[in-house]
Amino acid sequence: MPRRPFPCPLARGLLLTCAVTVLAAVAMPTAPVQAAPQCLSRSIGAPTHGRLVAGRRLPSWGTHYAIQPFTVRNGYVWGTCELIDGLRWVADELAGTLQGRPLALGNLSPRKGGEMPISSSHESGRDVDVAPLMADDLGRPIPSYYHHFDRDGISRSHGPRFRFDVARNWRLVEVILACPHFEVEKLVIAPYLRDSLLAYARQQNAAPELVGLAERKLVPPWPGVKLHDNHFHLRIACSVADLAAGCQDSMPQRVAF
Ligand SMILES: [Zn+2]
Repeated sequence: MPRRPFPCPLARGLLLTCAVTVLAAVAMPTAPVQAAPQCLSRSIGAPTHGRLVAGRRLPSWGTHYAIQPFTVRNGYVWGTCELIDGLRWVADELAGTLQGRPLALGNLSPRKGGEMPISSSHESGRDVDVAPLMADDLGRPIPSYYHHFDRDGISRSHGPRFRFDVARNWRLVEVILACPHFEVEKLVIAPYLRDSLLAYARQQNAAPELVGLAERKLVPPWPGVKLHDNHFHLRIACSVADLAAGCQDSMPQRVAF
């Protein structure tokens, strides 16, 4: 198991769940995750110029997630152990929020990493695209897909019946940040969707430490990168073993390990 002392899986079903564990994480110095002993995967280099050794495959679908057909067809379904185990954990943890509709996952990495023609990153097994959770115009959950959302959270690509579900997407962010299998390096999303998520969290009186963590991890795309108005781009940090193998991340204030 990873080294970070998150009790989330054990606390499932209790009132004190992931929000509390997020607070625990915030109080700790930034330290890389220790890979599980049976984990052989290594993320080498940078996500924009790297490779994946002994990666793990994410099955095309699980109880609470499904990978988009395009991604499966192209074989972009590989990642480090931390990413694969973490995605399964996130989807399971979100079961109640998903209400029977699978979490829609997009591209991870090719089997050995390296160049992926449709993206400038995803090369080292630490990236994955996640479709936002959606509601209809009456606020009812509907299956999510890669719609492009405008500043009001309305689908520009498919029409006003389809909305970015701020409340459920905030829960998605919360769960990703609390995942015990990986440390989030960044979660990229369009700036106005980021603003609406953070505004919602404050409105709900989310713990300031949690909001602060989300402010640091939720980042708008930088120049030259797509707007990300149709998906979250999750990049996880290098594990201890990855770092020893030459993994490069951009985590600030890394403590010695
Ligand atoms: Zn992406």
